[in-house]
Amino acid sequence: MQRAIDSRISARIGQYSRVLYQELRDLVEDDRGLVATSARRRWVRQAVDEALHRLIQEPRAQRPERLLLREVRHCFAMSQLPRVVLAINETVSAAIAFLDMPECQELLRGRCRAMTRNGDQCRRPPVTGEDYCPSHRHLLEPRPTRLQPVAPLERAPLAPAERAVA
Ligand SMILES: [Zn+2]
Repeated sequence: MQRAIDSRISARIGQYSRVLYQELRDLVEDDRGLVATSARRRWVRQAVDEALHRLIQEPRAQRPERLLLREVRHCFAMSQLPRVVLAINETVSAAIAFLDMPECQELLRGRCRAMTRNGDQCRRPPVTGEDYCPSHRHLLEPRPTRLQPVAPLERAPLAPAERAVA
């Protein structure tokens, strides 16, 4: 079950995306119209935006900066690649550091709904798809209801056919 992404997180990731695109924009190779520079810039902008938003969905992805570099490197001249690599690496690690902050993790994973003894909300993340963390999971189960006195009829033994079903 996927939770809706908090708008503050997507807004901040959008900022990282714009900053990186601004750094890369002017480095895009201008090869005199063979492939229009504006088309390459659009490609770079989209690849950057997707790569950064992917970090929210796949926080443990392996080397996301390399994947992004592979997608955009054809848009730059060889001589610009060191600057491109540096800009990508810096922005991607800044975005990952932001997403790793406890406040973000809390927003991303949600929070257990249980109240602690101090009256604060439990700070642990809930079990995936549930409302409570592993220690408070028992709160999900229905409270044991007090045994009702059994009416005489119900106490009578089941007829053989019914017993077979039960
Ligand atoms: Zn809890």
